[in-house]
Order: sequence, then structure tokens, then C-alpha cells
Amino acid sequence: MMELRIQLIPTGEIILSPGKNGENYCHGCKPPLVLLVPLHVVASDGVDRVGVQDFVLLENFTSEAAFIENLRKRFKENLIYTYIGSVLVSVNPYKDLEIYNKNHMQRYRGVNFYEVSPHIYAVGDNSYRSMRTERKDQCILISGESGAGKTEASKKILQYYAVTCPASEQVQTVKDRLLQSNPVLEAFGNAKTLRNDNSSRFGKYMDIQFDFKGAPVGGHIINYLLEKSRVVHQNHGERNFHIFYQLIEGGEEDLLRGLGLERNPQQYQYLVKGNCPKVSSINDRTDWKTVRKALTVIGFDEDEVEELLNIIASVLHLGNVQYGGEDGVACITSDTQIKYLARLLGVNGTVLTEALTHKKIIAKGEELMSPLNLEQASSARDALSKAVYGRTFTWLVNKINASLTYTDDSCKHYSVIGLLDIYGFEVFQHNSFEQFCINYCNEKLQQLFIELTLKSEQEEYEAEGITWEPVQYFNNKIICDLVEEKFKGIISILDEECLRPGDASDLTFLEKLEDTVGGHPHFVTHKLADTKTRKVMSREEFRLLHYAGEVNYNVNGFLDKNNDLLFRNLKEVMCMSENKILNQCFNREELSDKKRPETAATQFKASLAKLMEILMSKEPSYVRCMKPNDSKQAGRFDEVLIRHQVKYLGLMENLRVRRAGFAYRRRYELFLQRYKSLCPDTWANWQGKAFDGVATLVKHLGYKPEEYKLGRSATHTHTHLHSPPGGKKYWVW
Ligand code: ADP
Ligand code: MG
Repeated sequence: MMELRIQLIPTGEIILSPGKNGENYCHGCKPPLVLLVPLHVVASDGVDRVGVQDFVLLENFTSEAAFIENLRKRFKENLIYTYIGSVLVSVNPYKDLEIYNKNHMQRYRGVNFYEVSPHIYAVGDNSYRSMRTERKDQCILISGESGAGKTEASKKILQYYAVTCPASEQVQTVKDRLLQSNPVLEAFGNAKTLRNDNSSRFGKYMDIQFDFKGAPVGGHIINYLLEKSRVVHQNHGERNFHIFYQLIEGGEEDLLRGLGLERNPQQYQYLVKGNCPKVSSINDRTDWKTVRKALTVIGFDEDEVEELLNIIASVLHLGNVQYGGEDGVACITSDTQIKYLARLLGVNGTVLTEALTHKKIIAKGEELMSPLNLEQASSARDALSKAVYGRTFTWLVNKINASLTYTDDSCKHYSVIGLLDIYGFEVFQHNSFEQFCINYCNEKLQQLFIELTLKSEQEEYEAEGITWEPVQYFNNKIICDLVEEKFKGIISILDEECLRPGDASDLTFLEKLEDTVGGHPHFVTHKLADTKTRKVMSREEFRLLHYAGEVNYNVNGFLDKNNDLLFRNLKEVMCMSENKILNQCFNREELSDKKRPETAATQFKASLAKLMEILMSKEPSYVRCMKPNDSKQAGRFDEVLIRHQVKYLGLMENLRVRRAGFAYRRRYELFLQRYKSLCPDTWANWQGKAFDGVATLVKHLGYKPEEYKLGRSATHTHTHLHSPPGGKKYWVW
């Protein structure tokens, strides 16, 4: 290992020494108001191999090339974390680094953000401390494209809390459950995709609840839109959800026999579509053991595990239900699957067979069974598989939540740290409804980021009456509106087509889009495109110009996926199930409900709106994850790919805002309290207003007018200061 020498950036006459509260102190000079710790680390041969650990310190801070060069340098030295102020930028190393052990965790405990090298633990610790000292709920927003390292980052934060927070015996159980919820949810909600061998196919927001002593005492998870279509279809090179392979590879002989399963994924229609049963980075057999153990820790008893596995097995059997038949009327050609299904689902085989081949219609007040043709029957079967799997997943999240609920009444007042790990921006060769929802979600999160960091920063300056040189950034609200606006947005138009009886189809939806939003600057179709774009678009696609890039969406399946309908008689069968889990997933009330259920996109839109509210009510921290290459390789830094991410994550704007501002802010009272002893007029007992005291103090210390600003608002009495005196180019906090 190369020896590293730490070199302090020259600080003029300021002498720093460790302070009481983890802050650094200064003696005998003007207060720097500044804790000079973003260090410049230089290799022992004097060559700067590792760049700056806070982009704010970059000399050439407006240059994207310098930004990327700094990232590259650090990446090559396995320094995957760099700050932009308090935002953590992380580049996926694609290899295990020795920076996550207990010693590392201890190093970040209770230490000021800038005193140690950038790390995901520092973000975790910072939020934790803010929660404790300011008593304000926190959230950590982790963003980045698929495979950039979001899920790993969220797991590392959770582990950090589990290890470093105080614990009692009872709290230990909660910690175990919090940690063990991960392998279970990943087994059921993650899958191998082309982008990531362990791609989360659902969004997750998790609250960790802490009691007044700072011990984690409970948690709550909200899940977002599981990609159910994966249950019945996978693209080439991709897999179904991990749990299916884990069960088949790892399940004990007796268990598999009981479930009627063979130890060969190739036997199952739902597992062969992607032609990729094995993944080199995944060991399904050991993962199975982990999941089994985790289920026990979470509090599943043997019966529940059995019922859960019955459901998983029945989905595989459903996939193997084959149809044949004459005159276009579907019938089931083999009884084997039905026998297993009847037993595993706890339903009557004959009734199930009928429901898988007929549709119940009501004509003149009478119920009739109308036979399905082959295509209709297969899609009814697939709809059942998706519904069973999707609802079981939601049940699982509820079950985990119940096990994480803290029941001790003496401790109702807890504070919360929320962790958001939600699917990143996705562009595939073929993009469908799922990508549309995922990318819409990313637009919303970007919007929140803009609101909370860029816009709010500028607005605060305005409110304080402090001159501000505006920083240009792309506000993606226009794209959010294009998708979600009432009556006029894409989701509204989609819903309208879903409701319209008659000839509504995916293509009429596309036409309607052209009529309604055809003129929008971020919307294109084959018909509307210029010649160049037309060449790369099919007639079944629309293109959205997202903040993160252009994506062509194929409308095929949009209506069905948005409707997400299950034939009534299939619902009825499931309501009769003797499987206790399914019994909770399908209930009779749903059958008597005359109202049409909300469409998938509208439900998603509502859940995102709620999420934004949750996030807005908390103090956010950001982790921006990046992917260094598309081949999941360690050590490869693909500059083109990185540049693209730097652009769309808005990192340059973020940095400019950070540099344009006064890096240090404090309320007048606190500022005066801390530094009054440096001025004879203030040190004894300042009787006047804090504002005047601060003015006296800074004047006495000889700050030039351009070096500080005093905000005017009554509620936000901040002292804004630039970097320490001497006109240094670099920035300090
Ligand atoms: P995302 O959730 O953003 O899609 P993941 O967190 O699943 O991405 O990361 C994808 C893969 O990259 C992981 O399975 C792991 O192999 C690797 N990876 C991510 N972050 C790290 C890290 N900090 N250290 C080592 N490997 C990592
Ligand atoms: Mg993930």
C-alpha cells in the first residue's frame, strides 16, 4: 500500500486545534468560522494522485474536465467517495474494499463531517447527529442509475446504525430484524438484469425509528411499484426474481418433492425466457440459506414459511399450465399442474380449471361463463401469476413492518431517519410501461433535489437580501408536468384510453398522445420526428426527452399493464383459497366493490406524491451514485459514461451553487455566543441585539464587507460568510 502523507491546505495565520464538540477551534486571530478539514492528500513522492476530497476545493471548479479528472484520480486509488459540500458522490468500485469494517465505523462515530475522509458512514453519522441534536427527522436520498450502488449504499448505512447505535437486548432484536429484512426483500424483489446482477425491481423507502436515547427501536418500509411483469416474462440475458432460483437450487429434497418441483430451472416456462438460469456473481444455494434464516429472524413460523413457499411454487406451476383446444376455445391439456395448484393454493381444481379457461360475464342480470380463446386464456393465467406474486410481495412488506413495529408505549416519541433506495433511471433497447414509471419517478426525485438544493439556496439568498449570481440549471418540472398533469398529462391520457369502451388500444393511445402533447418540446413520435430521429424510432414508440437523456417507449402493453385487471372469476377462486397468506391478499370486499380500481399509473403517481411529502418534511442528505462502466468491471473508468452521469445528476450545477454561496452560515445568537470573546466590546456581556453584536464583532475583527453578509430576515438571522480572510481561492466550511 502506498504511503499517504496528509498535507493541510495553508490557512494563513489560522491555527487549528481540536475543539470541544468535535469542531475545530482557533486561537489568537480572527475566527475563521471555518473548520478547515477537507484535506488535500498527497502521495509520499509528492505527486497528487488522489485529487481533492471535496470538489469545492477544485481550483478550476467550473471545468467539467477537471471534475471528471478528480473523480478518475480518486477512483484509480480506490477512493470512491468525494464530497460536493455535504453531498456525497460515490463511484461503484465493483470490488470489495476494506473500508467497511468495524474500525472504520468507529472512526466516523460522532466526528465532524470534514475531519475524516469522505465516506458513506459520514453521511449516516451526520444525519444521526443532526437528528439527535436538532431533533429534526432526517432522510438520506440515494440516487443514481441502475447498478450505480444505491442498494449497497443503503445497506451500509443500515449496518452502520446497527453497529454504532446504543443497544439493549430488545433493541438488538430490532436491529437484527432491520438487517434481515434486506435479504428477504431482495430475494422477492430483486433480479438479474442486463445492468445489474442484483437489480432492485421495486422502490423502497425505509424509516428507521430511534428512541430518545438514540437507539433504533423500530422501522417501517414503504414499497413502490414492483415490476410484476418479470414474473411471466424476462428479456434475453435476464432472470426472474431471485427467490425462484433460490428455492429450486437450495430447497431441501423433501421440500421440493412436497411442492412438486424439480431441481432444474429449465423445466419452468417462467424461468426460461431470458435463457440465463445461472449468474456467476450469485450463489442461489447459499442465498437460499440466508433467506430461510432471515425469515425466522423476522418472525415467520414454520406454517407461514410453508404457505409462502406454496405460493412461490404455485406460480411456477401456473407458468407450466399449457393450453390446447379447437375452434379457438382454450382448454388445459394436462392435469398435473392443476393437481399441484389445487393443493398448493388450497382451492378446488375444477373451479380453478374453469376460471383459467372462461370469463364470467353478466348478461341480462344472469351470470354466464364465456369460453376464452388460447391467447386470452394465456393472458388470464399470466395475470393471475402476476397478481398472486405482486400481492404476496406486498403482504411480505406488511409482515416485515409488523415485526418492526415498536410496541413499548413508554417510548412513543421517536425520531426518524428515512432511507430512500429507489430504482434509478433506466434505458434499455426496449422500454415499456415499467421504464416509463421508473423514469417518471426519477424525474420527480430530480425535481425534489432541485427544489431542496438549487432553488431553495438561491431563494434563501433573495429572502435575506444578499446579492446572488444566479446559477443556470435545467429545471425538469416541465417534464414532470408532461407526465403527470391533470387532464393533459400522459398518465391522464393513458387512463382515459383505459376507460374508453370500444376500439381503445395501445395505438389509439399513441395517436391521442400525438394529438394532445404532440407539440411539447420534450415529446416526440415517429410521425413528429425529424428524419434522423425517425430512423431510430418505430411507429409504436414515443420518445421522452428526460433530464437524464432520451428514451423511446414502446406503447405495446401500456393499456393492459395500466389496467392491471384480473378476471372476476379468478379473483373469486383466490378468495376461496385456504392458504392463509392468499386469504389476506384476496378478500371478498374487493368483489363487491363496484368502483373501478385505480389504474397502476395513477396509483403510482399518488404514491410518489405522498413520498415527496414525506421527504419534504425531513432534512435531506444526498448520496449520488455513479457507475464507472457498463460491464460491471473493477478498475475501469469509462469517461463518456461518467460525463453523462455528471451531467444529468446536475453535479456541476450543484458545485457552482455551493461555490457561489457563502459556505458558512450561523444564526446571530449562536455566532455571537461562540465568538464573542474575541472582541472587547462583546466578550463580557453583550446587552444589545445579537445582530448588532455580530456586526460589532466582525467589524472589530477586520473582515472586509465582501467577505461576509448579514442576512435580514427576522426568522432566518444568519451570518453569511465567505471563505477565511486573505482571498483564498479554495473553499472551506
Ligand atoms: P443499484 O441499487 O444502484 O442498482 P447496487 O447497489 O445493487 O446498484 O450495486 C450493484 C452491484 O455493484 C452490487 O451488487 C455490487 O456488486 C457492486 N457494488 C455497489 N456498491 C459497491 C461498493 N460500495 N463496494 C463494492 N461493490 C459495490
Ligand atoms: Mg438497487
